[in-house]
Amino acid sequence: MLGLMQQQSLLISSLIEFAERHHGDGEIVSRRVEGDIHRYNWSAAAKRSRQVANTLDGMQIEKGSRVATLAWNGYRHLELYFGVSGSGRVLHTINPRLHPDQIAWIANHAEDQVLCFDMSFLPLVQAVHAKCPTIRQYVALCDADKLPADTGIPGLVSYEAWIGQQSDRYTWPELDENTACTLCYTSGTTGNPKGALYSHRSTILHAYAAALPDVMCMSARDSILPVVPMFHVNAWGIPYSAAMVGAKLVFPGPALDGKSVYELIEAEGVTFAAGVPTVWQMLLGHMKPAGLKFSKLNRTVIGGSACPPAMITAFREDYGVDVLHAWGMTELSPLGTLCTLKNKHQNLPEAEQMKLRMKQGRCIFGIEMKIVDEQGKELPHDGKAAGDLLVQGPWVIASYFKQEGASPLVDGWFPTGDVATIDADGFMQITDRSKDVIKSGGEWISSIDVENIAMAHPAVAMAACIGIRHPKWDERPIVCVVKKPGAEVTRDELIQFYDGKTAKWQIPDDVVFVDAIPLGATGKMLKTRLREQLTDYVLPGL
Ligand code: AMP
Repeated sequence: MLGLMQQQSLLISSLIEFAERHHGDGEIVSRRVEGDIHRYNWSAAAKRSRQVANTLDGMQIEKGSRVATLAWNGYRHLELYFGVSGSGRVLHTINPRLHPDQIAWIANHAEDQVLCFDMSFLPLVQAVHAKCPTIRQYVALCDADKLPADTGIPGLVSYEAWIGQQSDRYTWPELDENTACTLCYTSGTTGNPKGALYSHRSTILHAYAAALPDVMCMSARDSILPVVPMFHVNAWGIPYSAAMVGAKLVFPGPALDGKSVYELIEAEGVTFAAGVPTVWQMLLGHMKPAGLKFSKLNRTVIGGSACPPAMITAFREDYGVDVLHAWGMTELSPLGTLCTLKNKHQNLPEAEQMKLRMKQGRCIFGIEMKIVDEQGKELPHDGKAAGDLLVQGPWVIASYFKQEGASPLVDGWFPTGDVATIDADGFMQITDRSKDVIKSGGEWISSIDVENIAMAHPAVAMAACIGIRHPKWDERPIVCVVKKPGAEVTRDELIQFYDGKTAKWQIPDDVVFVDAIPLGATGKMLKTRLREQLTDYVLPGL
């Protein structure tokens, strides 16, 4: 027997319609590329999203065609989120930190028809446009009078001129909820990037899930600062969830330095912020010497790479801000797990709670996960056995864009490429990327554990642990360290610092001091490049 309920598709247009109707005066504040602050509200965002939709209709951009962005977090980007997807086109957010050749490759692979870009990316667009034959309209996200005369980009228009003449009345199409809405390519540290093509349904389900109390706990009382870029897995879905709950949104634009982020948090009464560890390192680095505090910020979601425990402690103890450690990936829209304690953990001593907070957290309803050994046999959830992490769920990809023939799934499960443990309470902890695992004497050493201990040393700004070939042990860990400006620590002092903090055989054999650790386009450490830099390195005693 079928239920007798209304059949309504889960559509992105319904989010902006809802935000307009019920939270029309809810503020959206953006730091613009020009440096000034722009303010408007959900009602104005909805009107301008409809202008975007009318513009695309007017250009006869077919449904399903890709409209790309190279843009920071800001109100115009938000309008494209709703106007492009809501009208049945696919928003393709390109990561501007990629190499220009990779950007051209992605734009061609996606067959982008339109490219909307922030003026800070003008030189990038000038460098790639000749290699992107499918793009028939370039749009600069700026006022008409800010458009330079001779850009060399044919037909370039300003966004304001592009949408300005259009009506703000529009009837959003009744799409099938499985229609594609957004396209996001993986950062592609090996091989060509691969496209994750989200649907309206998967995006709305993810938006519901992301807003849950044990996830990001978003509400109409929040002022939310997504520092995580809108070009990196849709800013972890925050723009959609914010519309769903009617939260105030605060966009940092290109200014991600500690001072600018701190000023925005304070000026806009930000209660909740989300970003990768490197951004928070810059923020705390700015606040500590100046003795600054937060007045309203109460929680921050940190993910994208492992959050160093020292950062969790600093936020909690020095600033009274709760850190929610999150794990996810492009292929998961991106949220998989989030770390919040259960009722029974509330009275545990702080040190015990801390051990849990360091983990990547528990499954969000909708996601299932398991760990398996090299033969694919499921491993116990005992917090000790580490294996390949596989996931399932309605916002996990089934296949990559244009690779429909080659399913990445294994018996219906998506292999994440991460190695993890899961404890009896369901808390998952990433120990490594499978390609970064260090195997020493037949045992695995978690490079993340080795890095976290180094990061707890007051003189260490960044640490990356890699395995070096060893004739007896296969591999031994070493840790590459960037010192904080003006701080000093010797190799022997840092090795001694590991004493008592980990098993003796897991202590790195050496410390290599470096000026910088190479980072990829999404702020993750590029260990492949680090290994290349150390090809001539020899372990002590060999
Ligand atoms: P991306 O698709 O670029 O978002 O990268 C996803 C990958 O980032 C995951 O497969 C993990 O290897 C890594 N990652 C994301 N969040 C975390 C986290 N909290 N701790 C450790 N690694 C993480």
